[in-house]
Amino acid sequence: MISPLLNVRSVSKYYGTRIGCENVSFDLYPGEVMGIVGESGSGKSTLLNCLAGHLPPDSGEVFFDTRTNGPRDTLTMSEPERRMLGRTDWAFVHQHARDGLRMGVSAGGNVGERLMAVGARHYGNIRAQAVDWLGRVEIAADRMDDRPDAFSGGMQQRLQIARNLVTGPRLVFMDEPTGGLDVSVQARLLDLLRGLVREMGLSAIIVTHDLAVVRLLADRLMVMKDGHVVEAGLTDQVLDDPQHGYTQLLVSSVLQV
Ligand code: ADP
Ligand code: MG
Repeated sequence: MISPLLNVRSVSKYYGTRIGCENVSFDLYPGEVMGIVGESGSGKSTLLNCLAGHLPPDSGEVFFDTRTNGPRDTLTMSEPERRMLGRTDWAFVHQHARDGLRMGVSAGGNVGERLMAVGARHYGNIRAQAVDWLGRVEIAADRMDDRPDAFSGGMQQRLQIARNLVTGPRLVFMDEPTGGLDVSVQARLLDLLRGLVREMGLSAIIVTHDLAVVRLLADRLMVMKDGHVVEAGLTDQVLDDPQHGYTQLLVSSVLQV
């Protein structure tokens, strides 16, 4: 029997008396992409940050199936252990590329330093892998020595993706990966992400307010409203035959999200 890569149990996070997210539980299996959708303020980022160890929830458990010790609650593990997982097993793609890039470091350096963080030492290999990954995200090799702030928004986002995927993470968290970009740039990025997800068999949790993103990328979907999951299921099923009134509104684009 395959065990879940991530087993989330009743995660709640409050900001004072305000609900960030409440009682969220789900399993993510290896190779699965889970989409989290909902309007702005529905708790998507709060939940994602709790799962990724960026924000301590007030209650709940998040078991990650570690390579060596099996399922471990990432919320109670030590800070160094969690940091190590962050380097070797997890990746986090931020909405704003500059939050996930080192702006003072060249494009090649941004990718290469992640390889060094997991132990790569051979300069030639690191450079070759960086060139390969820049190519995979459609950044020309002759831009390798440029800094990210010389890049367009879409290119910065593609660089952030290369930096995050180069180490072959076992779980990728993405918060609005196509948000804030022009529509045509979004479409290209989405296409690229879809290719990478399929090729690499990525396990990922993708937060978005854009149903087109989950339609293309997610196997399963959770719909959030006011910090709660109101509906969950296979992506096509939820989008084609939404059961909850709120999901019906989302799908019919009555809600401007
Ligand atoms: P989403 O990502 O779906 O837009 P968030 O997780 O950012 O939603 O927010 C969920 C709720 O928590 C909202 O009501 C928001 O105002 C509140 N919230 C988020 N971050 C903070 C914070 N740092 N301090 C206080 N309230 C917050
Ligand atoms: Mg958000």
